[in-house]
Amino acid sequence: MSQVRRAYEALPHPQVVVVGGGFAGLELIKRLDGAPYKVLLLDAHNHHCFQPLLYQVATASLSADSIAHPFRRTVAPMPNVAFRMARVLAVRPQDKRVVTDHGEFAYDILVLATGSTTNFFGNDQLEREAMQLKSIGQALDIRSDFLQDFEAALYAQDEARQRRCLNFTIVGGGPTGVELAGSLAEIRRTVLRREYRELDSDRMQIWLVDSNDRVLKNFSEQASAHALTYLRDMGVNVKLGARVTGYDGEVVTFQDGTRMESNTLIWAAGVKGVTLPGLEAAEVPKASRYQVDRFNQVQGLPDVYALGDVALMTEERWERGHPQVAQAAIQQARHLAANLLRRASGRPLEPFTYTDRGSMAVIGRYKAVVDVGRTHLAGLTAWLAWMFVHLMALVGYRNRLQVLMAWAWKYLSWKNTIRLIIRPYVRGTALKGPEPVPGTR
Ligand SMILES: Cc1cc2nc3c(=O)[nH]c(=O)nc-3n(C[C@H](O)[C@H](O)[C@H](O)COP(=O)(O)OP(=O)(O)OC[C@H]3O[C@@H](n4cnc5c(N)ncnc54)[C@H](O)[C@@H]3O)c2cc1C
Repeated sequence: MSQVRRAYEALPHPQVVVVGGGFAGLELIKRLDGAPYKVLLLDAHNHHCFQPLLYQVATASLSADSIAHPFRRTVAPMPNVAFRMARVLAVRPQDKRVVTDHGEFAYDILVLATGSTTNFFGNDQLEREAMQLKSIGQALDIRSDFLQDFEAALYAQDEARQRRCLNFTIVGGGPTGVELAGSLAEIRRTVLRREYRELDSDRMQIWLVDSNDRVLKNFSEQASAHALTYLRDMGVNVKLGARVTGYDGEVVTFQDGTRMESNTLIWAAGVKGVTLPGLEAAEVPKASRYQVDRFNQVQGLPDVYALGDVALMTEERWERGHPQVAQAAIQQARHLAANLLRRASGRPLEPFTYTDRGSMAVIGRYKAVVDVGRTHLAGLTAWLAWMFVHLMALVGYRNRLQVLMAWAWKYLSWKNTIRLIIRPYVRGTALKGPEPVPGTR
């Protein structure tokens, strides 16, 4: 056993096991650096993923490594924090152990920060055939898919087949759907026109479908209206009040019986918490989240806490729980870290209150919307604000610099060169949920 490992094992502190190194888990371990706790972070991946920029990896604006950061880089200088790449399969609260694909780990305090996954609302066909965007693997699938479709369109024997290759359907008019649609529209205007000169770029159609009567329904009405105008100006077909009920890999079916041919359907119409076997009693069934109190403690389990997307905490203003966004995850993690320090020194814990910092979404160059309290911004100012906030929120200076350079190059020249099919996408094999841990026997 190495000296460092021996020193970690010898720490006399209570063992905190954190499951998931997303926004919540990562913030928590940073705040517990040097605290009187022995912390073990478990994650199915070896890196933190900055999900708000996944759509830019999916649409070849950013490389995957610019939005990911290895956990080992983060924990290396933290003597009381260790990392193990492992997928947690179950929790046994009665003997305070988590079961993983690499053995079991004992805990004194357990923190669940497993985030959320795509919700297909029980539609197995959609789950099998649609693409989704929750991880870097899935973003790379989408990148390969649209580039392969461009190449395939050049070989299509007839116009109908070519149109099917170039028909992209995105279901869900929230920020992810809006951002993906806007990005694909920019690709049509720039890349397709310049680099696929043999193709008629007007044959590429982007459909954004939502059953609501407006896009960005959780934003202000002004923001929704601005976003809709931007999307339509960019040539996106926005289909509101329409519900997708099926997709067989080639044909999209709507609730009203209409059908549309499309080689690609990306499902961005809902998420549900990633819950674990063994803790079913604490789950709120429809929400698939753990009911927690104002201290993030999971209902009925004194030493188990949940944070972020998987936690359902209600406050007077948030009767149905906090929004599943990065700010809620980060704020809860900061607060729990402070409470764990209070707990260690025998002080009373303090209840959490969420501070809404607003919402933002980007549709294209100089086209974004921002809601902060009653203030609403759109256009260039909102776009600059969006870029600044996202740059600052990225983990690691290298990632920030890399993203800044990529954006400068992209938005000034439209000539970035990340459009590579490195790992070809085989239709019908889209990654579903978190990928398996490599090396697992
Ligand atoms: C495409 C996209 C765009 C988004 N855009 C925005 C945005 O613009 N602004 C915003 O505020 N929010 C945005 N969000 C939402 C935001 O990313 C989430 O609210 C946030 O990531 C939640 O943080 P979390 O820590 O709860 O979970 P996550 O960040 O999802 O982290 C969960 C972690 O748990 C790990 N994990 C899961 N299950 C297991 C298991 N069984 N064993 C081990 N590890 C496990 C995962 O590998 C992951 O690392 C976006 C999300 C997506 C998908």
